[in-house]
Amino acid sequence: MDRGPITEIDLNAVAHNFRAAKRTTGNKTVIAVVKADGYGHGAVEVSKRLINEGVSYLAVAYTSEAIALRRSGIKAPIIVLFDKSNIEDYFKYSLIPVVHDTKTAQRFSKEAKTRKHNINLHIKVDTGMGRLGFNMEDVEKGMSVINKMNFISVSGLMSHFSDAGLSDRAYALMQIDRFNKARNVLAKKAKPVLCHMANSAAVMTLPKSYFDAIRPGLMLYGCSPIQNKVSRGQGAKGSSKSKSLEPSNPQTLEPFLKPAMTVKTKILSIRRFKKGTPVSYGGTFITTRESLIAVLPVGYADGYPRALSNNADVIIRGKRSPIAGRICMDTIMADVTEIRGISEGDEVVLLGRQKNTVITASELAERAGTISYEILTSLGNRSKRVYING
Ligand SMILES: *Cc1c(COP(=O)(O)O)cnc(C)c1O
Repeated sequence: MDRGPITEIDLNAVAHNFRAAKRTTGNKTVIAVVKADGYGHGAVEVSKRLINEGVSYLAVAYTSEAIALRRSGIKAPIIVLFDKSNIEDYFKYSLIPVVHDTKTAQRFSKEAKTRKHNINLHIKVDTGMGRLGFNMEDVEKGMSVINKMNFISVSGLMSHFSDAGLSDRAYALMQIDRFNKARNVLAKKAKPVLCHMANSAAVMTLPKSYFDAIRPGLMLYGCSPIQNKVSRGQGAKGSSKSKSLEPSNPQTLEPFLKPAMTVKTKILSIRRFKKGTPVSYGGTFITTRESLIAVLPVGYADGYPRALSNNADVIIRGKRSPIAGRICMDTIMADVTEIRGISEGDEVVLLGRQKNTVITASELAERAGTISYEILTSLGNRSKRVYING
């Protein structure tokens, strides 16, 4: 979409993060998760680069996402995590379904029989996520039923951690125990299959979870799922004297990751306001001195969270400037009184690096009371994307 902000995606960073995942896990098979248009980075471009780097599988949520990849010429195996609305597409585009119940397996078997075409599927067990998958007590029965179905081969077994940040290690270990139980059940019934469980946090912190393949998403895009805290709510009623907010994670936990996304725009207008001037809807920010306020063409319609009103910074001329007042639909204001030599048209970085200053997705997420996944998909999927190092 051609609006104020532009999202720049560095494909070398994606490749770098992929290699980091490989290195950390001793060269495990990688299933790269590229759902939600590659977490806002563009699934086609990201996948093509990852294939060049040697990725084994791609994973998406919907068959429509997988079809878009196929239409772009991608031939790599694609796992579809839950869509079962169009069974035929799995055959037409040779996709790998994840099956969560015997009824769906039966539908695949029936379609496979009509086509006289065998299909491989992965089975999901719910080890504690409380979302999709066989209940632990139904695993044994489910497996025997599915194994007897015609034209079906079980080629994978998977599960998902309930906590993307794995903050409760004991719970994660319990989930791994259950997964091992399910694996043993399957081992008794069928030939060995590809077992996979590790999301990004597990790749980064839990070698026991690696099994045969890892299934990272977020870390490929250069963000850490491990959350850290930041004080929120500063700056409301903002005085222009209030110093710029501190970066929330100056030293990210995993220095080996390189963020791939930068979101930029250009200053639309610079206003000079007298002391005591309210800025933006509701006048929640009032200047406490004569101030320069930059108006930027980006707002919550572009995926920049309204919760960042008076509660985040942007980078201009390599320095942080605090957001002044409420985030609007298409615009935000930043207090640039302290930025020397500022002029209209100057480049503004909302997410990413400019000179030596960095704003990470985790920082925005913490300030907005959300997670970096939501920041990336909101910003990345709504603005025009450009690729560098493609
Ligand atoms: C999204 C997703 C992943 C990737 O999780 P990250 O935390 O982004 O690494 C892995 N597996 C499943 C089933 C998912 O839905």
